[in-house]
Amino acid sequence: MAHWRQDPEAVAQAVSQGDRSAVAQAITAVESTNPKHQALARRLLSALTEPESPTVRVGISGVPGVGKSTFIESFGRMLTDNGHRVGVLAIDPSSVRTGGSVLGDKTRMPELSVNPSAFVRPSPSSGTLGGVAKSTSQAMRILEAAGYDVILVETVGVGQSETTVATMVDTFLFLGLARTGDQLQGIKKGVLEIADVVAINKADGEFEKAAMSAARELQAALRMVNTGQSGWLPPVLTCAGLTGLRLDEVWEAIGSHREFLGTDGLLAKRHSQEWELTEKLVIAELEARLQRSSAVQAVRADLRRQVFDGALAAATAADEILRAFDSSD
Ligand code: GDP
Repeated sequence: MAHWRQDPEAVAQAVSQGDRSAVAQAITAVESTNPKHQALARRLLSALTEPESPTVRVGISGVPGVGKSTFIESFGRMLTDNGHRVGVLAIDPSSVRTGGSVLGDKTRMPELSVNPSAFVRPSPSSGTLGGVAKSTSQAMRILEAAGYDVILVETVGVGQSETTVATMVDTFLFLGLARTGDQLQGIKKGVLEIADVVAINKADGEFEKAAMSAARELQAALRMVNTGQSGWLPPVLTCAGLTGLRLDEVWEAIGSHREFLGTDGLLAKRHSQEWELTEKLVIAELEARLQRSSAVQAVRADLRRQVFDGALAAATAADEILRAFDSSD
């Protein structure tokens, strides 16, 4: 990380003026695991100004190849053409595990990356999912303080990343795909439960018909499973990121969802998300400590062998590990 030539309050000030290099520096600070940088990041975050009215936070998910980056590129251009300032962040659990990334770097959105009304930040390339969730949520605040009024958080349909993103955004947009035979691909049941808006992407040219009927089918299925608890039935749209087809309708659906939430509902949702994230962060930190604990490491291999030999029951082994952990600090 570059040296801080200014104090964090000055960086926060530059952020609020929309200074791009200050924004980049601030995000780098919140992503850093270095305790010194974290201390600077904390000061910086507390010096940030909150936007006057709530920004629009949208999560975007779908399997690799569904067209997320193409969609965000066009959607982002449509929004900036309409006077919005758009921040793009990404959560990529593959980069957390392997250091390699499914989502890749910012070259995936070449146009938006150089658009003066947009700020595209590639996903952090290391850290735990909990850590990445924390830095992404802080990066979101930095972008909002810098005047970006629409924040798009992209994620792939892998592991826990979708539920993590769902706890950070106002509206969760799921991109699906139709193929000949109207078969829907890449849609996990759990994902539909957290989706606020669904769009069957690549509904251009020869795929249009299949997309339309897939959308109808899915809409009917959603109507069936919708318990009416929240009162919101996720609309299923069709669109094409590549051609820009019906992206305005996707934006309108996001707007309708916000209207449905209302200002109070939106704030209440954000507050409960904040608490959910709090708990997630605690659990993530505890897990990391458990992995790091030398006292646990000292007994783990032996306990594992005993369990594998059938000499020890899981509950007893778990007790032993927890006892070692508790005694280590
Ligand atoms: P991601 O992995 O979800 O980010 O998907 P990409 O945006 O990289 O797109 C994967 C492939 O699908 C690329 O070859 C795109 O050109 C293509 N693609 C993306 N959007 C559309 C679309 O709306 N229509 C069609 N026909 N192809 C698309």
